[in-house]
Amino acid sequence: MSKNNIEKLIYLFSKIPGLGPRSSRRAVLYLLKNKETMMFSLAELIKNTAESVKNCINCYNIDSSSICSICSDKNRESNIICVVESVADLWAIERGKIYKGTYHVLGGVLSAIDNIAPQDLNIDQLIERVKNQKITEIIFATNANIEGQTTAFYITEKLKDYDVKISQLAHGIPIGGELDYLDEGTLNAALKSRHLF
Ligand SMILES: [Zn+2]
Repeated sequence: MSKNNIEKLIYLFSKIPGLGPRSSRRAVLYLLKNKETMMFSLAELIKNTAESVKNCINCYNIDSSSICSICSDKNRESNIICVVESVADLWAIERGKIYKGTYHVLGGVLSAIDNIAPQDLNIDQLIERVKNQKITEIIFATNANIEGQTTAFYITEKLKDYDVKISQLAHGIPIGGELDYLDEGTLNAALKSRHLF
């Protein structure tokens, strides 16, 4: 590997979110020092993943098969769909290990500023699923900002003729959060979504 290649590698690493020039230099140096155990296997894995990755044709999750591992899992409740903006959000909910339904990844949110219209998102595909897959419940897990809420509202309107229960994640006080430190918006949302003991 020429010095030039190493520099290119450091440059590419520095483009990865969370890695600046300093950490990418450290990462590349680590790989060079551990060529046999890390560098070759990482290179092969990155190549294989790039060649095999695809979007699930049902929920738009990313996986190496055209029906993702969540959609094809018989133990999951296929009648429930959690609607998320991105695969990162899907991963976040999966890390909680409590949700056992399926997902639908919208691929973004409606935004007038960014010129994102309903046809730019996987909304029609979600309506089709509700129509064809005996879906009984939709849970919106879009972000608690104007775009996330507008998108959830837009989809809810589109679903009003279907017999499906629609809910959204509660917004409010984080675990371990102290009231005095919260902004009014969060506190008001928590008050609105209060529940009985
Ligand atoms: Zn899927």
